[in-house]
Amino acid sequence: MNENGSRVVVITGGSRGIGRCVALKFAEEAARIVLVHYDPDESAAQETLALLKEKGVQVEAHKVDVSVRQEVEELFGDILERYGRVDVLVNNAGITRDTLLMRMGEKDWDAVLNVNLKSVFNCTQAVIRAMIKQRSGCIVSMSSVVGQIGNVGQANYSASKAGIMGFTKTVAREVAARGIRVNAVAPGFIDTEMTAALPEKVRQKFLEQIPLGRMGRPEEVAEVVYWLCSDSASYLTGQVIHVNGGLYM
Ligand code: NAP
Repeated sequence: MNENGSRVVVITGGSRGIGRCVALKFAEEAARIVLVHYDPDESAAQETLALLKEKGVQVEAHKVDVSVRQEVEELFGDILERYGRVDVLVNNAGITRDTLLMRMGEKDWDAVLNVNLKSVFNCTQAVIRAMIKQRSGCIVSMSSVVGQIGNVGQANYSASKAGIMGFTKTVAREVAARGIRVNAVAPGFIDTEMTAALPEKVRQKFLEQIPLGRMGRPEEVAEVVYWLCSDSASYLTGQVIHVNGGLYM
């Protein structure tokens, strides 16, 4: 916590979808929130900023490509200089470039691996020294059920999300003695712009496989992220928490 007693929370992909809901959840405790987004059309980020400001929290948004190391280093250098600490990092930014392996171009592979996985390395490494110095911190990265079970057309995406699971477990082991907890959340089929882009047939096929019989809401994922970063989860590290309506058990 900083001198005001509020946590400094950085959320990548905080402009919309799950990231926006995570930010709104942290706003309930009056955290200082830093949103990271990418789209040059900043309307989603502006909308999220307005929603958070309505709640009276201190919030700022930065347009940074989390897959670009230098941009990430500059962002976190600036945050650490101004706030002196980062208490929570939520590695949530993610993209899809779906197609069958037979047709998958190197560009689609690299884009997804860079935005979904390399970004987690970039951002985590950018905060870890500060967290070690603080002897506290929580890192939660957004994996996916398909990192566990695979999915046709998502070789790049599922590889990136499985990579997050391995990364999480390794870093959790490396920093546990310093009071830092590192976990991942693996959502199933959640109602956001990412899944809205899927063809109706694919959506129906997914729905048929979900025991709870419906898509998840981004708020339901945000609750778990928030809980993982709370003292109620003080004995959890290196875990992948599945939030998927039973799609994978
Ligand atoms: P979404 O609505 O598509 O939002 C993606 C977020 O990532 C946006 O805030 C976007 O910023 C940001 N982003 C994309 N590329 C970026 C980059 N290069 N640098 C910085 N930010 C970038 O996605 P979502 O459904 O909320 O998903 C959030 C996370 O959960 C992702 O990692 C996704 O893979 C994972 N997940 C989602 C589902 C699901 O069913 N929705 C399931 C499992 C896992 P802009 O607004 O600026 O573009």
